[in-house]
Amino acid sequence: QETERRLHEVQADLIHVSRLSAMGELASALAHELNQPLTAIGNYLVAAQQLIERGPEHVQRASDVIGKSIEQALRAGQIIRQLRSFIQKREVERAPAEIDKVVDEASALAFIGLKEKGVRVAIERQSNLPEVPIDRIQIQQVLINLIRNAVDAMDGQDRRELTIRVSAADGEARISIIDTGSGIPPGMEEKLFRAFATSKASGMGVGLSISRTIVEAHNGRLWFEANPTGGAIFHMALPLSGEAAA
Ligand code: ADP
Repeated sequence: QETERRLHEVQADLIHVSRLSAMGELASALAHELNQPLTAIGNYLVAAQQLIERGPEHVQRASDVIGKSIEQALRAGQIIRQLRSFIQKREVERAPAEIDKVVDEASALAFIGLKEKGVRVAIERQSNLPEVPIDRIQIQQVLINLIRNAVDAMDGQDRRELTIRVSAADGEARISIIDTGSGIPPGMEEKLFRAFATSKASGMGVGLSISRTIVEAHNGRLWFEANPTGGAIFHMALPLSGEAAA
């Protein structure tokens, strides 16, 4: 039992470290993403100050401009909050979560810095999705990994379309990440989920192996298939109820 407890601890540490490393890769894009609202806040406040100095009749407009800078400050705060909850070392905890919200939050982080990649994104969701008992942060970690992999695979392709499909049926919720990228490289199929299997020059090859560990700890499944129109599809299925794996 003691060994098992240690094993869980080490696994949780590993998952946490991998999350840190994923956010490390995002650091420069995040800095850029934060710089935008901060610059906007500065500009709005300068404008507001000038309006106020021009006389009391401009106070209403100054107030409107300050309102805009508040919006930007809230936006910057939200980015930082998401990032913090993501990198914090925390206890693993399962709680019912609205799966489409989980997907929205994960894609907000995953798409940081990707605007210039020109990927068309569509999120298709079934209505009335049930809640799913998950560790929200860990499942978002899996989603971010799958989305970033899909975007990497579409680099340099003519068609760059990413579809995230969220549905529920037969006692499980399913999230599919569908890309029109280069497809799984020949010879990678068998070892994709093994640690250190990568086809990327700067890849570590641990993303999918950790993702599968996370999904299996939820008693779920993670697998892929070729996209019939070119590219790859990764599916994650999570049970809607029942005990999580020990
Ligand atoms: P890394 O991204 O660091 O290489 P991963 O474990 O996340 O590590 O992915 C392992 C390998 O699986 C990638 O290097 C790539 O060859 C392949 N792969 C993963 N997702 C896709 C995808 N959507 N399309 C094509 N190949 C993929």
